Amino acid sequence: MARIFVLYTGGTFGGVQTSRGISPLPVAELAGLLPSVAADVCIEGFERILDSSGIEPADWVDIAQVVAKNYEQFDGFVILHGTDTMAYTSSALSHLFEGLAKPVVLTGSQVPLSFPQNDAEQNYRDAVRFAGSGPPGVWVVFGGLEIRGDRAVKVSCERWQAFSAPKGDSDRGVDPRPFRALSRIEPDVRLLFCHPGLTAAKLAEEILRPAKGLVIASYGVGNLPDDPIVEQALATAISEHGKRIVQVTQCAHGAVDAGVYAAGGSMVRTGVQAGGNLTIEAAITGLMVDLARI
Ligand code: ASP
Repeated sequence: MARIFVLYTGGTFGGVQTSRGISPLPVAELAGLLPSVAADVCIEGFERILDSSGIEPADWVDIAQVVAKNYEQFDGFVILHGTDTMAYTSSALSHLFEGLAKPVVLTGSQVPLSFPQNDAEQNYRDAVRFAGSGPPGVWVVFGGLEIRGDRAVKVSCERWQAFSAPKGDSDRGVDPRPFRALSRIEPDVRLLFCHPGLTAAKLAEEILRPAKGLVIASYGVGNLPDDPIVEQALATAISEHGKRIVQVTQCAHGAVDAGVYAAGGSMVRTGVQAGGNLTIEAAITGLMVDLARI
């Protein structure tokens, strides 16, 4: 029988109705509600049991370290997590592990396990099964879907299928490196989501705002207002301030190719890193992990 380590971090999955709204139960109470499964399960509570809207980058490192500490004793890992930031955590973990040769599966639910009609029980069963027999890597198993951790996006706060991989899957094969979980992350990364009304001058201000890393969610294949003030700000931020800037597309599908339009040229000329078809979640967390390696 597969030995599965379950780490409970909170979220709707372990929620109960309180006068302040749904709030997660402590691990001892949740453990008593879990359905029996065909696996040898060991459950532990994360040091912070919380609504996932309160997750911080340091928590991703701590979750990775808990997996690393138990890596040899278990065949697979299930992380019970709120859905709101699950795609960020799954993306971060995808970057934080090297040589991961076992499944690490994130799941949660739209309706708490403590409610009579819920998706928590099925998601839990699916996640434990996948953690015991699925391919290595970080995964989100939810609503009957199995999605790579760094491709997942939360697409619904109502439907059973809360997650999807709108930008497609990525098959990266087996990571031959010895297993380890990185222990550092740089949280000083911001997201700049362009929209009409954010004038060239305001964009330039945002680009120059202090931060070690910046993800720009640009229009279409990688366009920004075609204005020298934007290009100057990008050049200053990258060459003088040493800021790492990655661009992705705001589109649900597709990849950046900033050289196609004149309006994307400033990105190419100044050395903005093309984020291909990365999700915003994967771009932000990947940059946080990369910056901590420097
Ligand atoms: N607010 C909850 C959380 O992310 C939502 C959920 O779990 O579905 O923790």
